[in-house]
Amino acid sequence: MSSAKDGTSKMEKVYSPRSVEEKWQKAWMTEEFYQAYKFKNDGRPVFTIDTPPPFTSGELHMGHAYWNVINDTVARYKRMTGHDVILPQGWDCQGLPTELKVQYRWKVSREDRALFRKKCEEWTANMIDSMKRTMIRLGYRPDWEQFEYRTMDKSYWRAVQETLIQMHEKGLIYRKEFPVHWCSKCGTALAQAELGYLQKKGKLYYLRFRAGDRDLEVATTRPELLNACQALAVNPGDSRYSWAVGKEATVPIFGQRVRVLADSSVDMEFGTGVVMICTYGDEQDIKWQQIYKLPVTRSVDEYGRMVNAGKYNGMKVADAREEVAKDLEAEGSLIRSEEFVHNVLAHTERADCMTPIEFLTKDQWFIKSMDFKETVLREAERMEWIPEFVHSRLVDWVNSIEWDWLISRQRVFGTPIPFWFCSDCNHIIAPRREDLPVDTSSAPPPVERCPNCGGSRITGTSDVCDCWVDSSITPLIVTGYFRDRGLFERAYPADLRQQGHDIVRTWMYYTILRCAVLTGTGPFKGALVNGHILGPDGTRMSKSKGNVIIPEQGINQYGADAIRQALFSLTIGSDFPFKWEPVKYGKSFLQKVWSSSRFAEGFFSGMVAKVNPKGLDETDKWIISRLRETISKARDAMEKYQFHIAVDAIQKFYWHDFCDQYIEAVKPRLYSPRNAEDKATAVSVLHTVIWNSIRLLAPICPHITEEIYQSLFRENMGFVSVHAAPYPKPEELPEVDGTKGEKVIAMIALLRTRKVENKLALSAGVRGAVIHGNSEELKVYKENEWLIRQVLHIDSLEYKIGEKDAELIK
Ligand SMILES: [Zn+2]
Ligand SMILES: [Zn+2]
Repeated sequence: MSSAKDGTSKMEKVYSPRSVEEKWQKAWMTEEFYQAYKFKNDGRPVFTIDTPPPFTSGELHMGHAYWNVINDTVARYKRMTGHDVILPQGWDCQGLPTELKVQYRWKVSREDRALFRKKCEEWTANMIDSMKRTMIRLGYRPDWEQFEYRTMDKSYWRAVQETLIQMHEKGLIYRKEFPVHWCSKCGTALAQAELGYLQKKGKLYYLRFRAGDRDLEVATTRPELLNACQALAVNPGDSRYSWAVGKEATVPIFGQRVRVLADSSVDMEFGTGVVMICTYGDEQDIKWQQIYKLPVTRSVDEYGRMVNAGKYNGMKVADAREEVAKDLEAEGSLIRSEEFVHNVLAHTERADCMTPIEFLTKDQWFIKSMDFKETVLREAERMEWIPEFVHSRLVDWVNSIEWDWLISRQRVFGTPIPFWFCSDCNHIIAPRREDLPVDTSSAPPPVERCPNCGGSRITGTSDVCDCWVDSSITPLIVTGYFRDRGLFERAYPADLRQQGHDIVRTWMYYTILRCAVLTGTGPFKGALVNGHILGPDGTRMSKSKGNVIIPEQGINQYGADAIRQALFSLTIGSDFPFKWEPVKYGKSFLQKVWSSSRFAEGFFSGMVAKVNPKGLDETDKWIISRLRETISKARDAMEKYQFHIAVDAIQKFYWHDFCDQYIEAVKPRLYSPRNAEDKATAVSVLHTVIWNSIRLLAPICPHITEEIYQSLFRENMGFVSVHAAPYPKPEELPEVDGTKGEKVIAMIALLRTRKVENKLALSAGVRGAVIHGNSEELKVYKENEWLIRQVLHIDSLEYKIGEKDAELIK
């Protein structure tokens, strides 16, 4: 595409995303441009987006990039459609992975809690800086100034503690002994999200238990837990063992008598079909202990050594296993053993630990979540779910929950549980509001004696909150629940919660639970739940597989706008492998947008007149009617969060209709016009199409559209930024009939093909051409003969009735 003869363009020929993107990212942070991003609380309809606070690992992966881009695009679109948008960005700071980094990489001991916390904060601040830089390089522009939050800040602690006190006042907090997942190497309890299964080689031991005068064979991988065996279980449908149900059996070596239970969750195919229930060998044991109210015997301590196990006390678990096996054999209770590969629950996630986990019983804090299943289901029912199937995923989860929510963790870097308890009667004592945030492990209690029993042994706790306790109040944090009731009334519930489908059972569930219990209303009107970006090989990205793609790679090479387009070519809700082809396509498209704007710029001088429907020629009418259709389609898709449909519609229109067809057809009217009015009309159409198109594209590709806006339109339009301009509406354009123009454009395309077939340059002169069509088509061609001849450099045209076709006369 050549530049205009009329004037020289200020724009470089080749679009350079790097310099353009950096320039606008800086500009958007200035006071002048902040006005386009600021939540003003000025009476316009509020649109609140509850965005995911990423865990502060320091690395912003493609998945994060995807969330940021979705949220940024929704916010930009909503601002352009007249909303006062709250686009927050938080940071989920606290948790074990950070503790491990500080402990092992910085070699800081957890003994000095205050120092350890300070070091964790330092580490986290560095991680946030690095992640924030990448977010900004993606064009992400939340309202940092007013709505950035960090869960490690004292103000956030205060908010979390306030909500826990409110829940305590409703009688929803209690404390009791409960088994936790414990990593003996790291010396801490773990959240479910930190666990995974490792395939390990082990042995399956077949043991003989005596039941009356018969033997029961039990297969187990963990004979060292025999001291904690509380029952045996068989499947009620297993006829081999119907004789044993209800009988008592004697445990080898330790000799305790245990009942044989019938439970349908016993797998008849595993081992012999008889399993032992220990407290605790695995998660199934915990369920059975709860259901059958079995006694609890601890067999492993915090350091992974045996306890309550007689002569085995003090041995490491693995050593004890071998010793017990030997003794079983000597006693005649070991029938046989075999090599066995099995899945072992281990500390696998967000750490390099890989230690098998044990279950330890500890005093723990709980929220009575089981009482609110109906509440959560009711609120979920009222929400709009995109995609719809995620709703049933949440419903299934809520229905399957069996225990209250265990909210305490035996760690350091977390929001302190804000309660004391009476060591005599277990009564819970809350702090005074004015003392928040509080760390009860060091702060004195507000009372000297227990209000319940009068006892004086009031104890604080060094336990901290599960990270989901922090993040499940984000809709309250961003809507001003704790600081501005007026704002809260207007901004809550949030209009949209955006998150990944892997945290429906956690972040989604806990947020609905907590917010509904605290406010009486569910936290969001709608949820947009996206899938995962997989490695190019179609599997989950992981460092060990070497298939991780970080956004920087692509930003440096193709620019953020190209990546954003590529991410939006995906369907919301499903997982997909990351591919570079759509990014490359995105970059080529941006070059088209750039070149066409550069071409047009040469013809824009001063104020460009609005399109006057009276002067339009048929090709003008066609491109304007196509633009109207595209605007309708894009708006409709954006309203429904069907970004791929919007992107596809805009790309097809702009590239194929506008650049490939219209611009080629308009050139004679600009370079060698029939009259000044027609040229002015052509310029006004170019202006209108580009002005509307860059606004359609602005939420998706914010940088290039800003650059073009500032170069071509700001003077004329007056908005500080393209992002402060309104999103186009179809009714703002004249309603014109494009059908004749479509015929003309198709004939021009056909003649162009004929030139290519005849190996003629497009600019080569041709003596004549014969064009065929029905009488109606021929009439249209005749009316537009001047344009057709000029575009294709054909001296004369002949017309013949017949099937639509064309041939050149050389
Ligand atoms: Zn560990
Ligand atoms: Zn008491």
